[in-house]
Amino acid sequence: MTTTATQLKHDVRDLALATQGRQRIEWAGREMPVLRQIQERFAQTKPLAGVRLTACCHVTTETAHLAIALKNGGADALLIASNPLSTQDDVAASLVADYGVPVFAMKGEDNATYLRHVQTALDHRPNIIIDDGSDVVATLVKERQHQLSDIIGTTEETTTGIVRLKAMFNDGVLSFPAMNVNDADTKHFFDNRYGTGQSTLDGIIRATNVLLAGKTVVVAGYGWCGKGVALRARGMGANVIVTEINPVRAIEAVMDGFRVMPMAEAAPLGNLFVTVTGNKHVIRKEHFEVMKDGAMVCNSGHFDIEIDLKALKQMATEVKQVRDFTEQYCLSSGKSVIVLGEGRLVNLAAAEGHPSAVMDMSFANQALACEYLVTQRGSLTPGLHSVPEEVDQEIARLKLKALGLTVDSLTPEQEIYINSWTVGTE
Ligand code: NAD
Ligand code: SAH
Repeated sequence: MTTTATQLKHDVRDLALATQGRQRIEWAGREMPVLRQIQERFAQTKPLAGVRLTACCHVTTETAHLAIALKNGGADALLIASNPLSTQDDVAASLVADYGVPVFAMKGEDNATYLRHVQTALDHRPNIIIDDGSDVVATLVKERQHQLSDIIGTTEETTTGIVRLKAMFNDGVLSFPAMNVNDADTKHFFDNRYGTGQSTLDGIIRATNVLLAGKTVVVAGYGWCGKGVALRARGMGANVIVTEINPVRAIEAVMDGFRVMPMAEAAPLGNLFVTVTGNKHVIRKEHFEVMKDGAMVCNSGHFDIEIDLKALKQMATEVKQVRDFTEQYCLSSGKSVIVLGEGRLVNLAAAEGHPSAVMDMSFANQALACEYLVTQRGSLTPGLHSVPEEVDQEIARLKLKALGLTVDSLTPEQEIYINSWTVGTE
């Protein structure tokens, strides 16, 4: 007997949203040619047959295509949200009703529900965990030691997740292989930079409808994400200031043409602040105190800790919801500070996250990293592993092909030359 949508275990907002979700999933697929090829190959070769897999990702139209690839590959896959605010409820409904994927995710779920879904993800007794920020893996390691023997490995989507996995490894508690999807070139070059660049501004604009031209935008962190946000904000006519702690990244920002200064100096100048550091309390009490009246703050880095909202709440006499994902904190000084997306990833809370064209490559890496874990089962040491260079290069080749572009290849003479040390000046 086949399982119907209502029989399938799930926790989604409303299955009646499935029709709209399916339409939007199909639309996203137009921009995901690389993942589509993987879906087709997986349907034939079933590389994940017999694998129980838990994915903790933002439940978006793009993640739906990853879930389809995993299912086509034969995995018994379950999906939970990687952030309480990023779920697209129609997509969650369609995944359950149309694609038979159990989903546990609702936009706006409270922290208790989010954490309950993390437990559900582990109740699935996964062999592979696709994680986005390492919440599921950290919970497994802390609370479910008895399940470690089930694990083939994990794949990690984002920078902060990699930081946490390195810390687990250094503490001697990471006892299985972890594929570092974030550091694949075809992931962070495009997803973190161009994806975060565009989608962060998209989230800010959808939440506020502000004009960026002529505004002073302060970008905290000039890593891959910060570069994208600064670049796109400048493209919209903003005056961009960058804050950093890393002197090399700071020089890079200067030479890219941005003003660089500490947050204490930038705080009174900015109209809009965007944190993308992966660090804690990058904007805090002393900064709120000197901000302009009506300054807007938001975050596109990991978790909701980059902006010290606890301190801001203590400074506030009143907090008013003024638009969707937009709250005005009225301060006792008479000024106010506007917070977008509750300090959580603004691109996923107030918009739809990265466009499909970049997630195509990120999730191709995810699907192929899962296949790699299975084919290499038993031979990978515990700890972080890079996505093999051939896989990264193949994803780039497929993407170029899909874009209708070709590039040169080495001549035999060039091949010899670049591998030789005996040939010098002629
Ligand atoms: P990264 O390591 O390349 O860059 C982070 C930068 O922040 C570094 O240059 C670091 O020196 C700087 N930094 C750290 N503490 C700082 C501080 N107190 N003040 C100023 N700068 C500081 O990382 P990344 O790939 O750019 O990712 C940044 C964050 O965004 C991570 O948490 C990552 O998980 C997250 N991320 C979010 C999205 C999204 O969709 N919104 C996409 C990818 C990554
Ligand atoms: N649990 C973390 C999640 C980090 S989000 C938190 O709540 O803060 C960062 C990741 O989101 C990025 O690495 C990116 O690959 C992913 N992302 C961005 N847009 C997405 C989309 N449209 N669909 C799925 N994932 C997306």
